[in-house]
Amino acid sequence: MLVFIGGITFFLAVALFIFTQAQNYSSPAKSPETCNDVLIQGPPEKQTNILFVGTADEAEVYRDYLLAYEPFSSNREMFNFYRIDKKSDCARYKKIALYCYSQELQSQAAVCPHDFIVALEDAPVSLRASAYMEVASINTNLPKTVLLHELGHLFGLDEEYEAGYNPGINSPNCKTRCGQFTGTGCFQECSDGTHLRSVDEGVMRTLSPADDANPYGSYNTERILDRMTIPRSKIAGFASQEETSCLDASYLLIEVDPRQSEWQARAIAKERGCTAQTQGSASYALKDDEMNTVFSDTFTAPRLFTDGNEDADNTLEGQTFESKNLFYLTVPSDTGAASVVITDSAGNERAQADLNINNRACEMLS
Ligand SMILES: [Zn+2]
Repeated sequence: MLVFIGGITFFLAVALFIFTQAQNYSSPAKSPETCNDVLIQGPPEKQTNILFVGTADEAEVYRDYLLAYEPFSSNREMFNFYRIDKKSDCARYKKIALYCYSQELQSQAAVCPHDFIVALEDAPVSLRASAYMEVASINTNLPKTVLLHELGHLFGLDEEYEAGYNPGINSPNCKTRCGQFTGTGCFQECSDGTHLRSVDEGVMRTLSPADDANPYGSYNTERILDRMTIPRSKIAGFASQEETSCLDASYLLIEVDPRQSEWQARAIAKERGCTAQTQGSASYALKDDEMNTVFSDTFTAPRLFTDGNEDADNTLEGQTFESKNLFYLTVPSDTGAASVVITDSAGNERAQADLNINNRACEMLS
């Protein structure tokens, strides 16, 4: 009898455990997006995956445009392109720029493998394009070169016009000494008035680059290729090599508020989909109970670039806003980690968060 009661108790405990896991770990009850293939040329974990948000026609036009320019034209086989439908208009950042970055977009994008998201919107020409984290917000009424420029940001490049910010010592393209560029020119002005750039009229400075065949300039092109060939630390959230649908994968969504000197981070959900395969100068580490790192990855620093061409000569003008906006990290959910530690691009630890969503969900409900 005791064994029987013990067995029943154990069964109930297991059932309750499974029930609470399912309650807290299921995706919100909404129909998933459809991931549309635009051009698939290899397994996503080996490719640079670009996800368009827009119509099928728009995605094809911008894909073909991108693949016509270096360094993408010579390396076109390294890219996959996907597309999801656009569900709502993008926000306007301070009424000056298109700003498509949001938690909602991130959830929608998770149905496709993606390193970068390119959100396309037919907006008034006065609205600047922007780049934040892994999302480029493209105003389709600006010259198409703006795609090259914003994608340059997603690959880590800083502004090469005077944008009033210090790009920092880790900037790939803005340097303090000409000797740091090899075999290229050296020109004053790169994000601020004191830093130097390697190309006079490249696409990180103007929407009419001087060398149409090599719009970023040779030094910056090498930096982009460096980023493209960094080995992926983790298959895009897939549980196994055989899985290819993001609907079979899952990730933890971490919300980070960088507006105070001590960033606030919290795990807000476990959702179905692929983690973003981001790369950048900031990083996070997933820790077990003994604070051993079980997984780590890099991500783009939270710097919002806004770019428009107010002059007829296509020289860019814009502003850069640092650590002013919430951002979201999608981290692997299957590592058994207990917490996440987030480090900024200068190497300073800025936030730590518990990854136990069960407890948090209870706290939020009470
Ligand atoms: Zn820019």
